Amino acid sequence: MKTSIQVEPITSWTHYKKRPLVISGPCSAETEEQVLQTARELAASGKVDIFRAGIWKPRTRPGTFEGMGSAALPWLKRVKEETGLGIATEVANAKHVYEALKYGVDHLWIGARSTANPFVVQEIADALQGSDITVLVKNPINPELELWVGAIERIKKAGITKIGAIHRGFSSYEKTAFRNIPHWLIPVELKQRVENLPLICDPSHICGNRTLLLEISQKAMDLNFDGLMIESHIDPSVALSDAAQQVTPRTLTCIINRLVMRNPESTDSHFLNVLEELRGKIDIYDEQLIDILEKRMNVAKSIARYKKENSITILQTKRWAEVVQKIVALGEKKGLSNAFVNDMLRLIHQESINHQNQVMNDARIGSEELEEKVKNGVSPTG
Ligand code: PEP
Ligand code: MN
Repeated sequence: MKTSIQVEPITSWTHYKKRPLVISGPCSAETEEQVLQTARELAASGKVDIFRAGIWKPRTRPGTFEGMGSAALPWLKRVKEETGLGIATEVANAKHVYEALKYGVDHLWIGARSTANPFVVQEIADALQGSDITVLVKNPINPELELWVGAIERIKKAGITKIGAIHRGFSSYEKTAFRNIPHWLIPVELKQRVENLPLICDPSHICGNRTLLLEISQKAMDLNFDGLMIESHIDPSVALSDAAQQVTPRTLTCIINRLVMRNPESTDSHFLNVLEELRGKIDIYDEQLIDILEKRMNVAKSIARYKKENSITILQTKRWAEVVQKIVALGEKKGLSNAFVNDMLRLIHQESINHQNQVMNDARIGSEELEEKVKNGVSPTG
């Protein structure tokens, strides 16, 4: 479904050469030397299009390094003059916008914490009126598509036509392998809501460490993202912010070189791109199915443990009959055939029995006997 929001394709952006557009540079500009050395190495690699550096840093806790502020803007200007790279920084209020524009910053990004706040986005949009800059909108910290669409809409209404979206993952209370969990479906849906929308992936803030950067970058390329924003630092070990996730310009080059670009240069490239996007969605749903099944099995095991502690048998005939009836009816409402839902439930049920039996190892009924009973319509689940 397309809405009335339309932006310019990435091919019209200054500094765009080919997919992937690569934006790299330190989390924070720290010293002029650090900025220039990093930029020179990145430029020499020939793999980077735009140099990034945060100068106003939104830190979670006070008392940590909050960026060099406007004093770092002349350093970015020097990067542009010396290396020819485009320059990008984060803005979070009107003053930041005016200052960045004054120093010729080419691309501005709105950080995840700012995108979540419509007042902040509106203030930035108002300050941008009349400029022809590129604005990259990071996803809000919480997984809410409408907030992301709304922020893009506000920037577009201010007359900005070169707008891109950056997927940097979403925060959660749950501790996972990621610093910010990538919900790939959300940017994919976003692209369907905003015509031509360039999508950039920020693996650095998704991963929070260096180890998964290549894997996440490849995933983004396979989902047809247009570019990558990866943090790099001349010496990550002494970085004043996000030290664990930054890489040297050399490692950055290796990551970009190792990417497998599946970019079908066929005459029917539009068809192939659409197909790739749809297949990406299927892959995401399949992964979600497996995650849900894992969670279901874990609950079944907890039930088995609970029943074991209370010396209750795992056989519950009536309960399973009710589950089947309810789920088959629900499936029917959603266009799934009775036969399919019945088969699927039988398979899930059998797997569940196997898991429960592992827990009830010393139960009186062995798994084979139990499965036999299930085939005959007797239920063991909770
Ligand atoms: C950053 O890019 O350094 C940054 C602060 O990002 P985010 O808004 O994604 O946390
Ligand atoms: Mn950072």
